[in-house]
Amino acid sequence: MPALDKEQLIRYKRNILLNGVGKLGQQKLLNSKVLIVGAGGLGSPAAYYLAAAGIGRIGIVDADTVDLSNLQRQIIHNFRDLGKPKAVSAAEKLRVLNSDVQVDIYNKMLTKNNAEEIISSYQVVIDATDNFAARQLINEVCYRLKKPFIYGGVLAMQGQVMTIVPDQGPCFSCIFRKEPPENAPTTSTVGILGAVAGVIGSVQVSETVKILLQMGSPLVGRMFTIDLAEMLTDLIEVSRDNSCPVCGSI
Ligand SMILES: [Zn+2]
Repeated sequence: MPALDKEQLIRYKRNILLNGVGKLGQQKLLNSKVLIVGAGGLGSPAAYYLAAAGIGRIGIVDADTVDLSNLQRQIIHNFRDLGKPKAVSAAEKLRVLNSDVQVDIYNKMLTKNNAEEIISSYQVVIDATDNFAARQLINEVCYRLKKPFIYGGVLAMQGQVMTIVPDQGPCFSCIFRKEPPENAPTTSTVGILGAVAGVIGSVQVSETVKILLQMGSPLVGRMFTIDLAEMLTDLIEVSRDNSCPVCGSI
């Protein structure tokens, strides 16, 4: 790994000061590869904080274009980006923020046909999607490739995060087996406060850094939940399910 140059020592000083990071940890971050699936409410803060922290390579997967109704929470995009592919818009902001970061743009949906090829180039995946099918796909492929992924979900004033490390704790399918019913509430029906997505996307980044540098205690086997309306947080212990179709042994 190349040594940190003068500018990097200044830019990352407050990372380097952290217990568990140091100069070596920062060098590791600069050599890390993280994929964000979704450049929306969770992907916006996640992408910004990963790039600011000096994650050397960031992939962004999103097939959508920026819409006016996104700007209330998807803070990486602005009115000049309306109609632009979200992956492109996000990449432009990250390149301005930090030229140490190489950004890979995937202006497409993650599908069964491309997921393995895309995910295999990265060390950690951040789930910044908004639907069950995409999470199931990320979970299956990450389990097969033995890649950690950080699940995050938000709705209205609530959010949750769990870190999934293959064979070390439960996977997404151990906990969420069935597709939610069609009439289940979504952010399109009950809303989402942008700041709630900001909290959850930020927790996903701190989990990513912890996994990359083996710092602290990641949310493996523990689901972090927060209700920002009542300001209640919880850590729910969750275990592996032997009959899980993805990681189970039966
Ligand atoms: Zn499982």
